[in-house]
Amino acid sequence: MRVCAVIPCFQEELRSSALEVLTKATIVASSSGGRVEAWLVGPTAEKHSSKAAQYGAATLRVMELEVDSEAKGVNVSLGRRIVDAVDELMTQSTAELATEGAPQPPSLLLFDNTELTKDVLGACGARLDVPVIADVVDLSWDGHQCIAQRPTYASKVMSKVHAEGSVILCSIRAGLFEPDEKPVKATTHRYKSPQTDLLGQVLKELVAPEGDTVDLTEAPIIIGVGRGIADETGKDLVAKLATLIRGEIAISRAHFESGMYSHTLLVGQSGKVVAPRLYLALGISGSIQHVAGMSESHTIIAINKDPEAPIFDLADLGIVGDLYQILPALIHALESTQA
Ligand SMILES: Cc1cc2nc3c(=O)[nH]c(=O)nc-3n(C[C@H](O)[C@H](O)[C@H](O)COP(=O)(O)OP(=O)(O)OC[C@H]3O[C@@H](n4cnc5c(N)ncnc54)[C@H](O)[C@@H]3O)c2cc1C
Repeated sequence: MRVCAVIPCFQEELRSSALEVLTKATIVASSSGGRVEAWLVGPTAEKHSSKAAQYGAATLRVMELEVDSEAKGVNVSLGRRIVDAVDELMTQSTAELATEGAPQPPSLLLFDNTELTKDVLGACGARLDVPVIADVVDLSWDGHQCIAQRPTYASKVMSKVHAEGSVILCSIRAGLFEPDEKPVKATTHRYKSPQTDLLGQVLKELVAPEGDTVDLTEAPIIIGVGRGIADETGKDLVAKLATLIRGEIAISRAHFESGMYSHTLLVGQSGKVVAPRLYLALGISGSIQHVAGMSESHTIIAINKDPEAPIFDLADLGIVGDLYQILPALIHALESTQA
């Protein structure tokens, strides 16, 4: 089978979630006798091809996209062009294999689970008319079908999903697999980007929301701030702690509503899904909607004054107490060790 890591390339560095997808692709391929391909699509595709080979992709399919080129006065969105590119790569690679006389193996297309993927995964599935399994935390191939595990009902239940077909698409939750280098000698195939139909969705301007400078899905340390941090004094303590432990700040919906922090930092069912090495939950009760976005964190430490708070059921380490007493002490201790 072909296990293809589909990697949208629009940044200077390849995202860690893309390397995780490549790593998972090599694991699935080696357990099923398959081979790994990297489909690099986007304005910086060429630049990242050698890195994909470093992480186990023996076949590199590279399609450079000029996203900002003006076409009839409008710019076509990157997501729309990625759907067209995946469609084109599937058609062309299948045709190439047919001319080589190779049997047509089933293809598993793996994406990372970013905001962009959420935009394009369903559209790719509809375009290719194939099954899609989104936000999987594990998957395997049993020779006939893909078997994936994904959290459902706000992570209350882990469901096992089976999908059959000659092509299956999956997106993989970020932060679950350690990127593992497996350098291979790779063959590169280059493709021209297809013409995108301009009658569809168009993007006239990219406006970054204020404060949206942090990619929480890539952060190794996250400080989750809940209603227990209630004022500017608490906010200052959190900021100090974040600097000391080099953590990124995320919020529960309590602060989405309070306006104390940018709404782009929301974690949970209606916000981002994260899986950092460390999630420090400060004054967060542990509602299922919040937990849905952080339950896969590797280590969870909770500080809460209520010993019955549900977050303690999930936490690896819990501290019962008032944040306004604990945080100054913690900051003092960290400052003295770093002095
Ligand atoms: C459809 C839907 C979608 C939702 N999506 C999301 C989502 O994506 N993300 C999300 O977070 N929520 C979401 N919610 C809201 C969710 O149900 C909760 O209301 C929210 O997560 C509560 O946030 P919290 O834990 O910060 O506040 P609370 O539940 O009020 O908990 C505050 C905690 O702080 C503790 N505390 C208070 N003061 C202190 C102190 N001084 N020291 C220590 N501890 C203290 C309290 O003991 C309490 O446990 C959603 C709700 C709905 C209905």
